[in-house]
Amino acid sequence: MNMKGCVSRTELGRMFAEATQLIRSQNEILSQLDSQCGDGDHGTTMMRVMEVLEGAIGSSSNERNLSETLRQAGWTVMNVDGGASSALLGSFIAGMGNTELGDEIDCAALAKSLETGLQSVQKQTKARPGDKTMMDALVPAVEAFGKAAASGKSISEAMNDAAVAAETGAASTSYLVARHGRAKYLGEKTLGCPDAGATSMALLFRGFSVALAAVKES
Ligand code: ADP
Ligand code: MG
Repeated sequence: MNMKGCVSRTELGRMFAEATQLIRSQNEILSQLDSQCGDGDHGTTMMRVMEVLEGAIGSSSNERNLSETLRQAGWTVMNVDGGASSALLGSFIAGMGNTELGDEIDCAALAKSLETGLQSVQKQTKARPGDKTMMDALVPAVEAFGKAAASGKSISEAMNDAAVAAETGAASTSYLVARHGRAKYLGEKTLGCPDAGATSMALLFRGFSVALAAVKES
């Protein structure tokens, strides 16, 4: 437990461990969603990606600062995997390291880090909220975290807000028609089924939130 309400290397490791566990428990549902709108591999891809991230961050040494740790973990994902979602997720995590992070990340620094992560994904894809992709969960999550941080909420409250926003955004994709990725070719047929990538993005933020619920403010 970290009394200052900051994320250190230990908490960062726990965030990825919780997210990995959650995504592992839902991996069949993720593949099922992807088989309705894509090629059915999203669950297995996400498990592979999360295991790489969990391993890279969990085994990282103090010699690298947390920015370098995140960049390195994200690059590893981009190098090991070929799928659309893994490239975008790798770029999000690597992008989170594009801001200077010390050994302890406070709420404002985590807000900045999530923003630079989002910016890095936005350089890779033209998809925006409303296009039925992971962006429908990621964009509102990052916005909600930033808003919570600016209003003085604790890091765990801010991450809970982000998770709720991601979940709401992911649920909203059921009513959208896909315009990017493989699902684009199915058009109207994608109505009624939530996007797989938005669903896993919401699980990522929920896992982060579960891990940070243990971080108490002083
Ligand atoms: P692949 O499409 O390579 O099989 P996955 O099945 O792992 O990759 O992931 C599919 C998810 O990736 C989609 O549900 C969507 O959320 C996301 N995605 C795919 N293409 C794009 C894109 N161009 N922009 C944003 N997100 C995308
Ligand atoms: Mg797929």
